[in-house]
Amino acid sequence: QPMASVEVRVIPYTANETLMVARDVTRLQQLEQMRRDFVANVSHELRTPLTVLRGYLEMIGDDPRLDAGPWGKPHKMMTDQVGRMYSLVEQLLALSRLEARGETETPRDVDVPALMHKLESDSQALNSDKQHSIRFDIDNLHMQGDSEQMTSAFANLVANAIHYTPAGGNIEVSWKKLPDGRARFSVTDTGDGIAPEHILRITERFYRVDKARSRNTGGSGLGLSIVKHVLSRHRSRLEIRSTLGKGSTFWFDIPKDLVSGHQSVING
Ligand code: ADP
Repeated sequence: QPMASVEVRVIPYTANETLMVARDVTRLQQLEQMRRDFVANVSHELRTPLTVLRGYLEMIGDDPRLDAGPWGKPHKMMTDQVGRMYSLVEQLLALSRLEARGETETPRDVDVPALMHKLESDSQALNSDKQHSIRFDIDNLHMQGDSEQMTSAFANLVANAIHYTPAGGNIEVSWKKLPDGRARFSVTDTGDGIAPEHILRITERFYRVDKARSRNTGGSGLGLSIVKHVLSRHRSRLEIRSTLGKGSTFWFDIPKDLVSGHQSVING
């Protein structure tokens, strides 16, 4: 039985009076918890049948007669769609793990430059038919945190820049120390841009600006909500600046006490 939760709001009323409004949000929090559990359970249950389907599709794909026959194309489509469903389920599971409270893992050293080099080569693969120029500018800074979570935050932002920029664009990725000791990760693209009314909502689950187009790019609308949760676990938040038709910058700052310099090389 959870403790009762009360949300209190203090509102200026007159020059020397304030109003205090209290609301019982116990029931709301219970419902929110039920929603989270439901999503986590459904995703978990969907994973097993999808794994079986994927296994059989792979087996069928090993048949050398497949490509020449009438089932080559349907097989490829099924493989693609099962793959999409699988990654959707994986993203939902990642999201429910991030939302679950109370499991604060101990932060570890995250070798950001190493993650960036991996990301740089992965990006070239994603970029193959888009012909963007992608530039990485990386300071030798590590941070404290969860390496897997940070990888998904970095990768999501870079993948979005590639997806939502028309062929031949410019993408700049940087990880830099700020004068005040924080570290900033930023991705700038010369892409579609986002209208102000959408910016406020794009970190919501399943929110996509252009649903039809995003479906073509294979998007689920979960990427940025994963990024948002990962960042809040690292005491940071996503900032967005964007001009419709010109491009966008997505960035976030990691607090100074989570950033470590390059002493490891000297000490080692
Ligand atoms: P998706 O899987 O659809 O990419 P995200 O949560 O990553 O989901 O992004 C939500 C929506 O925000 C996208 O569908 C897209 O409309 C918009 N968006 C995200 N990144 C960019 C970008 N760099 N440029 C323009 N639009 C973007």
